Parts: sequence; structure tokens; C-alpha cells
Amino acid sequence: MTDQKTTLGFYGAASMVTGSNFLLTILGEGNPGHGVKIMIDCGLFQGGSVFDEKNHAAFPYDPASVDVLIVTHAHLDHVGRIPKLIREGFHGTIYSTPPTRDMARLILTDSMGVLRREAEAKGTKPLYNEADVEKAMSHWQAKPYRQSFELPGGVSATLHDAGHILGSSMVELTRGGKTIVFSGDLGNSPAPLLHNTEALTQPDYLVMESLYGDHEHEDRDTRKHILEDVIESTVLRGGALIIPAFSIERTQEVLFEINDLVEHKKIPEVPVFLDSPLAIKVTEIYKAEENDQYFNKTAMAAIASGDDIFKFPRLHFTLSRQESDAIAETPDPKIIMAGSGMSNGGRVVKHLKRHLADPKSTMLIVGYQAAGTMGRMIQDGAKEVTIEGEVIPVRAQITTIHGYSAHKDGAELLTFIEPAIDSLKKVFLVHGEPKGLLFFAQRARDYLGLDAAVPQEGEVFTIDF
Ligand SMILES: [Zn+2]
Repeated sequence: MTDQKTTLGFYGAASMVTGSNFLLTILGEGNPGHGVKIMIDCGLFQGGSVFDEKNHAAFPYDPASVDVLIVTHAHLDHVGRIPKLIREGFHGTIYSTPPTRDMARLILTDSMGVLRREAEAKGTKPLYNEADVEKAMSHWQAKPYRQSFELPGGVSATLHDAGHILGSSMVELTRGGKTIVFSGDLGNSPAPLLHNTEALTQPDYLVMESLYGDHEHEDRDTRKHILEDVIESTVLRGGALIIPAFSIERTQEVLFEINDLVEHKKIPEVPVFLDSPLAIKVTEIYKAEENDQYFNKTAMAAIASGDDIFKFPRLHFTLSRQESDAIAETPDPKIIMAGSGMSNGGRVVKHLKRHLADPKSTMLIVGYQAAGTMGRMIQDGAKEVTIEGEVIPVRAQITTIHGYSAHKDGAELLTFIEPAIDSLKKVFLVHGEPKGLLFFAQRARDYLGLDAAVPQEGEVFTIDF
């Protein structure tokens, strides 16, 4: 056993937020040349041209040598480079929960259009094509939560509920009595729809996201009241309420809360449009009967009472371009949820063009707005914006609800680790801005006495596993 050595490499979301990609290598097992390689997530780097180059760069390992890929959840920064991995030689099995597999197919297919347009503009080749996505899906095996399965190298794997988006999981790997957990993204529990994040067992190592390690969220009870107030006041003024929509989880949470407000007659009945093909398709996955088990007690009770929790009178799913264009003919007041979530593209742009100059209307921001996006400019108080070459004055009311974050904040992250402090040999903090990661690492050392590391991209650690 002396030649046995296990290493853990950090190839994405290391000292940055996106591009999740970790590789566990067990030498002395499997192929004598390279050992057994288990990969966790293979996500897209997001956030501008520097990151585009990283997406197109060669992987720092041979994709053909990777035995298994386990996927924590279907966000693009966790799945977006899987078709590229396949194209470059990976031929192992991909594991995830069933909703993650189903949503990954939608997300990967949907992002192909954007990748193609980017590639055309730059005169390069798109990162992957439809055939690569289909090939990836043919390698995919779905596994339910809490049911362990065997991997090469004497490793057994179990997926646990992370409470972040539908089907999101933490990956627990055990071998010879040692355990390592990859947190994926950790949900802001309790969430309106999902179960709470499962408690940690007693891992020896933990690779944990810490996006909001240096931040505390607003009180989440207030957000539904703000939503109610914003809808009421906009309807009273006779304007349109535009909500730039994030396709997974946020859209379904907001729909669920509007459904509840409508059914309890807390808001006036007005037409509500979900005007995003991706969000509509993702919502169909949320509605599928076999996915009922992923919802928490409150949502389950609503479903069991016969309520379709994503359906209420006057809710319209506008899938086709014609249906989308026809929304303009429906008189105000009305509510329009449309992608993209940061207003830097998608159908929401035309709705903003039509309504931003109208003081009766409201733009409601429900998620993080990255610097440089139109959403961020408006949120920061821009007096006018240029849309499709036209200067539009911003006279609509602009409101932000922060409480919809799908990630744990600093205090919740500490609470999450606490039960495992006795067993943990080391915690690796990933998926955050460097400043926040270093801040949280210091907190984990000071408050919990943990050995906390913030890996750099490409850094490889030897671990006792
Ligand atoms: Zn995520």
C-alpha cells in the first residue's frame, strides 16, 4: 500500500466563482499509469472574454484518463464544459440525480445558441455542438439521494440533498473508512420549495462553496411582503411589473409565491406572463410528478391539496415568439417574467424597452446583477439606458429584493460545518471571490479551529483518502 497516494486537484472555481472542476486521483489503483480519476463537476467559466479563453483552453489533464464524472447540480458553471470534456476524449460514466440530468440537457442545449453567436462574432469554433450534448446524455446515469453506488478504486459514492436548486446534491465519497464531501452549491434553507440542506456526517475532508462567506442575507420573511407590495402598488398605478427571470429555481420560487398570493386573494388578479422558453421548460421539469419528492412539506402539502403550485388563473406560458410579441397587446396592469435575469439579453429586453420610460411601471430585480450588465446599470440608478440603439429614459420604479439568494450566507456556512469539526482534517474553500474566501477561511480558523485552505487554480493537494 506504500505506493498509494491520493491527490485532489482544483481546476475551476478555485479562488473564483465559476468553472467548478475538481479531480480526485487515487494512485496505485486502476490503470497503473494514471490511477483512478474521479471528477466532480465540469462547469463553464462565466464573466467575459478572459473567461471565454479559459473555456476554450485545453484541460490541464487528459479527459480520456478520467474514469467517472459526478455532477452536483445543473447550473451552467457546474455542467457547461461537459460536452467539451466528451469531445476531447472522456468516455466514462456521468452520475447525478434525475432532475440534474434532465435540467442539464435543457441548459446545455439552450446555451448552444449563445456559444454559437459568440463564436461567429469572434470567428472561432463553438465550444461544443448538439452531437456532443447528446453523447454526454448517453453517458449519464441518474442516482437518487442517499443511495450509495460503487465507483472504481474501491470508492463508494452517495448524493445528499444540498437544498440549492431542484435535484442539487452534495457528493460524499468514502474509501477505506475515509470520507470526503464536495458540497456543490449550498441552499439558503429554509427555501420556499426545497428540503433543507442535509446535515454533514463526519467527513475527513470537505470541499465547500463559500460564495457569501463574507456576507449576511436580509431577513427572508420580508421578501414575500415586498413582492406583495410591489405587485399591489404597480397594479394600483395601472403599470406593468417586469421581473427579469433567472430560469432555474428563482423563477419557480417567485411563481410559487405569486400563486400563493393569488390563491389567498392578497393581490388583485392580473395577467401574469412567463416569457422565457428555458424557464418554461425548466418549470415543466419542476411540475413532473416523479419530482414531487424533491419538494419540502409546505410545497408537498400544496401539491397534495390538488393545487398545481405553478399554475393559477391568468398565468400564461408564452413559449413561441408570436405569443411573446402578443404580450404587448394585453393592456396594463400585468406582470411579465422574462429572461435573462441580468437583462443583458433575452426577451426581457424588449419589455424593458417598452416600459422603462413609464413611471407607472416597475422593474423588480430578484437576483445578483453582475457589473457591466444592463440590470446592474439600472439597479445602480442609471437615468437612461440604450436599448437596440434607442435611448430610453428610466422613469419606472426600480425595486430589488435581495432575499431570494439560493446560497447560504456566512453565518449559515459556519452552522453547516460545525457538526463536523471533530472529524475534519481540512476544509477547502471554493466558489467565491478571493476576498470573501480568505475572509471566511479566517472565520473558520478563528471560530471553529479548522484547517481551512483557499486553493489556487491548478493547485493539487495530497490527502489521506
Ligand atoms: Zn448553483
